[in-house]
Amino acid sequence: MKPSIAIDGPAGAGKSTVAREAAARLGLTYLDTGAMYRAITLAALRRGTDIHDAKSLDALTKAVDLDIQNDSSGQNIIFLDGENVTEEIRLPVINRNVSFVARCPQVREILVDKQRQIGSRGGVVMDGRDIGTKVMPFAEFKFFLNASLAERSRRRMAELSAKGEEFELEQMMKEIAARDKIDSERVVAPLRSAEDAVCLDTTLMTIEAVVDAIVRAVRGEE
Ligand code: C5P
Repeated sequence: MKPSIAIDGPAGAGKSTVAREAAARLGLTYLDTGAMYRAITLAALRRGTDIHDAKSLDALTKAVDLDIQNDSSGQNIIFLDGENVTEEIRLPVINRNVSFVARCPQVREILVDKQRQIGSRGGVVMDGRDIGTKVMPFAEFKFFLNASLAERSRRRMAELSAKGEEFELEQMMKEIAARDKIDSERVVAPLRSAEDAVCLDTTLMTIEAVVDAIVRAVRGEE
């Protein structure tokens, strides 16, 4: 069986790019679990579901059809009720609301079940907040990526700027800090490094260097 790799960390630590590239180099499948919480958030906003009401979120999560596929470059393509929402789930309005949806235990139970199913055959690189602690505690390799708040905010701003959306650093730092706070303080599966995870501070590292470190560790080259 191929190995399973868990990559966790706060917003903007570079997890998704790193996880996708590491998966490509290691011949494994990539799963972006954050995209699943984002898709449920989009569904809630579209339908006018109260994102602070667990019962409504539970019903919504059970009612939607969420499908994740990988394109030829390994990128996750997210379908919500048959519609490709891969771009839309990255909008700032989703960033501002997703942590409220993700702290709902019922939503987590449904999505974690789905994630475990996808991970059950091994050979998956999953990135998120609770992959090493909850979704795949059995993963052969676990990494926890972090970076300073300012650097994480700059990375997010660069991503958005490439799509023509401009943000002030101060505003981005506030948004990311707010999201991290909710993610770290929630009762169920808070953002936390697994005890057996390798922690990497990526503040001064390039994406390539982080991917290299992970690939080498998995290949047993160091
Ligand atoms: O990774 P990304 O920034 O896309 O995640 C969006 C949000 O989804 C996080 O801020 C967090 O609230 C939630 N999330 C989570 N558990 C995961 C992945 C993401 O709670 N495994």
